[in-house]
Amino acid sequence: MTDSFLSSDFAWPTLERGWVWLCGAGPGDPGLLTLHALNALRQADVVIYDALVEERILDWAPQAEKIYAGKRGGKPSAKQRDISLTLVDYARKGKRVLRLKGGDPFVFGRGGEEAQTLVQHGIPVRIIPGISAGIGGLAYAGIPVTHRDVNQSVTFITGHDQSGETPSTLNWEAISQASQVLVIYMGMKHVGQIVDSLTRAGRPLSEPVAVVCNATTANQQVLETTLGGIETDLAASGLEPPAIICVGRNVLMRQVLDWQSMMSGQAPRNLDPLGRGRPAESA
Ligand code: SAH
Repeated sequence: MTDSFLSSDFAWPTLERGWVWLCGAGPGDPGLLTLHALNALRQADVVIYDALVEERILDWAPQAEKIYAGKRGGKPSAKQRDISLTLVDYARKGKRVLRLKGGDPFVFGRGGEEAQTLVQHGIPVRIIPGISAGIGGLAYAGIPVTHRDVNQSVTFITGHDQSGETPSTLNWEAISQASQVLVIYMGMKHVGQIVDSLTRAGRPLSEPVAVVCNATTANQQVLETTLGGIETDLAASGLEPPAIICVGRNVLMRQVLDWQSMMSGQAPRNLDPLGRGRPAESA
């Protein structure tokens, strides 16, 4: 691949010395980077990246020093404040700093806090959004995050709070009633508690659930199950985080939209998984 498009007429921004660009790397597949991200990788002196950033993406910044600032649930990890202060240090040294975070930096990624710390220290910032795992990761599994016959809203939930516990402030009853589709990040550790909360709040045990692990990477794995079956099925599957858990009837659409299986020659399992009984686009 060439960078010829970066030399086209479009006025690509320059990453100046002393600046920090806080950039989403997407959920994994390097092709899901934005062009702004690639433009940033091409210019950075230093790239400070997260655990969930595919390492191949760093090959687009051969000139840059790479610093790993990974944080994975439960494992020893760089402290958030140390990461932010490292960014400040490099910027003050006059480096062109690229902070690369998995998915979108402002979706459960503490990007807001990092950017705030930078601004508080007088460091100029630019924010480059990315494709979040809860949207792009589901799309790679053949699951539309909204689907007209299923949901008019979607709720993104984190399965951890700052202490690593299930968020105690969440009103599961309100969430259960308000949103037909729930997209849960960081939910694997407390999946039992989350399922209990949802079923106690009235979601049926038969409700479809998908668990999408390592979405958009070569190791992507998808488990299709139900709220009632998820704990047993997860234990049997041996699937590990990172994973997105999607709860809702939109998950059934995978039966017709699992495009990766279709690419490898399999027939769609069910052309009308929601049982509409009429053409998909009729009103
Ligand atoms: N900012 C990121 C989310 C960071 S929180 C984003 O917008 O996607 C980390 C959680 O994101 C993981 O625990 C997992 O729930 C989810 N996640 C990130 N990348 C993923 C991937 N490739 N596959 C599945 N889940 C992923």
